[in-house]
Amino acid sequence: MRGSPEDSVARAADLIAGSGHLVAFTGAGVSVESGIPPFRGPGGLWERYDPAILDIDHFHRNCEESWRAIKALFYDHWGACRPNAAHRILAEWEQRGLLRYTITQNIDGLHTRAGCRNVSEYHGSLRELFCERCGNRLEASREVLASVPPRCPECGRPLKPDFVFFGEGIPEKAAREAERAVLECDCMLIIGTSGEVFPAAALPPLAKRRGASIIEVNPEPSSYTGTIGDVRIPLGAAEGLEALEKLLSPERR
Ligand code: NAD
Repeated sequence: MRGSPEDSVARAADLIAGSGHLVAFTGAGVSVESGIPPFRGPGGLWERYDPAILDIDHFHRNCEESWRAIKALFYDHWGACRPNAAHRILAEWEQRGLLRYTITQNIDGLHTRAGCRNVSEYHGSLRELFCERCGNRLEASREVLASVPPRCPECGRPLKPDFVFFGEGIPEKAAREAERAVLECDCMLIIGTSGEVFPAAALPPLAKRRGASIIEVNPEPSSYTGTIGDVRIPLGAAEGLEALEKLLSPERR
């Protein structure tokens, strides 16, 4: 039936199968089924937390208070979360040569933990802490996180999580690699992003201008829906990717 989820899955599978260079672009929604809430929308973190905790100036001025919230919000809870079927299917597609590259806005590291190797973590990750004074980098281990704020063992300055705060720039290598992937792709699979956080949100329109077809997996419309998107699969990430995999798996084709 035209316009049904089945129809959009079939159209998206055809676009993916016909593409020569598929790139995934993911946001918080891909990790919702791993138990990690998004920022915006119902149940989003901004219903409970002030976004200022992730503002770089606020962090510098109120380091201990910001660290308490960051620890409770990210490190105490997210460490126990596991990749879901959507992360696993993307990793499998990468191994099969169907997916060339993943650009993620997420800081949870779940694409890498699922086995994806070609990933730009556009907003950094939770894995490491960084000293803004001496450049020291440490793994975000339980021991390092035991004191609040955790401090650099070399110079004593409070460490910063190595992800991008509001008011900071994108890490150079991640930005460069993401842009290259966007310029090379002929099909972009956008999963679970509202498309409201810039400069990341400008990547899909750039892919579109270069002629790529744009597929979305999102239960809700986003800023790409009805604008640059060619087809939206109106399902959650895991269900949407499982439906696509049914049509794209080597046994089936
Ligand atoms: P967002 O919070 O602005 O939007 C989330 C999007 O996910 C919405 O469009 C929503 O409809 C969709 N969504 C909700 N449940 C879904 C599901 N089950 N399957 C698929 N999609 C679903 O997130 P954003 O656009 O990624 O931007 C927010 C910023 O916050 C980004 O920088 C992001 O990295 C960061 N963030 C990261 C995490 C994480 O690392 N897991 C979590 C929250 C926010």
